[in-house]
Amino acid sequence: MPPVQYINLLSFCEISTLRMLLNNKTPSLIRAEIAALSAYHVADPGKLIKLDAMENPYHLPEHLLKEWLDLLSQVSLNRYPDPSALDLSKKLREYMQVPDDQLTILGNGSDELIQIMAMAVAKSGRKILAPEPGFVMYKMIATFVGMDYIAVPLNNDFSLDLSATLQAVKQHQPAIIFLAYPNNPTGNLFDEEAIVDIIKTAEGLVVIDEAYHPFACVSFMSRLGEFDNLVVMRTVSKMGLAGLRLGLLAGPAQWLNEFDKVRLPYNINVLTQASAGFAIDHADVFEQQAALIRQQRELMFDELNSINGIKVYPSRANFILLRLEKIDATAVFESLKEHGVLIKNMSPAGGVLDQCLRVTVGAPEENKIFIASLKKILNN
Ligand code: PMP
Repeated sequence: MPPVQYINLLSFCEISTLRMLLNNKTPSLIRAEIAALSAYHVADPGKLIKLDAMENPYHLPEHLLKEWLDLLSQVSLNRYPDPSALDLSKKLREYMQVPDDQLTILGNGSDELIQIMAMAVAKSGRKILAPEPGFVMYKMIATFVGMDYIAVPLNNDFSLDLSATLQAVKQHQPAIIFLAYPNNPTGNLFDEEAIVDIIKTAEGLVVIDEAYHPFACVSFMSRLGEFDNLVVMRTVSKMGLAGLRLGLLAGPAQWLNEFDKVRLPYNINVLTQASAGFAIDHADVFEQQAALIRQQRELMFDELNSINGIKVYPSRANFILLRLEKIDATAVFESLKEHGVLIKNMSPAGGVLDQCLRVTVGAPEENKIFIASLKKILNN
């Protein structure tokens, strides 16, 4: 017979499990549109080769690791960070070539910047517009802040349907339009002149989301100031610092000063400020890594193109979208996991993404294993 305390513990666990089962109804205070959402799902990679999240596969090189750790050891963890991250902002502005007459604010990832912009304009009946398929957080954040979301379908080749977009812009006059340049998950760049037409037609704000800039090498940054309603968003996530969570928004003072009021104090922590500054001081390392990834992307594209039964979409980002033409994409996704490779199954999103998979360009060895596994699965 177990001691009395043990019996009590068992029964306590059983009772709390029972309570959880009985109480798993959504509290009535939770808004219906939030209750209808699923939390952002991130697959557990375990020991799989991780080609699912558009990360840079390379770590800091050995010779920089010690220097970085020495720097971190001097950071005052007991003090709040510099609230406006002045030193880091200066470095980022210079590195990202933000025009002198434009302001910047930093976010805990560019996700937070999307949220800040949405919070600053949110009002019942106001709208956020973006092309679809597009980055899922635009829609999710519109829902979080109680705004309506207008999705304008892309053409079959994933280019902008300009006349439909302009029509939707005129009809809805969205408070914010998000254009990812290049687009996620399709990987292509929208036509620059089409984007300018949208900026000119919009009465609201147009955000050019340049998350994949290290791999696209084109930008609207130098066009800031040409239009009152244009802002440019960047992140350090894809250049190799996804773990830091740091994004930058650049644009005219009349917008950025207001967004800064919505930003939570100290949103960029001391470790991120120190580490990102260090990384920018060694930007050449990250540029070499990006160049390698761009090279690998072209190799991967050619390899994929030579495989029977898939359609491959050209990419200016660090990932490639492909469509399975003969075998079910979800079955291929699952088989790839059995071969030790995790990519992203886009097929559950449906619509034009039906039967689509998205693979991040990794290190050469990882890419080889992915291609060899895919060939095996497709009997090529
Ligand atoms: N914009 C786009 C187009 C993205 O694909 C992503 C992330 N996948 C983000 C923004 C968010 O990036 P961050 O890591 O800076 O939050």
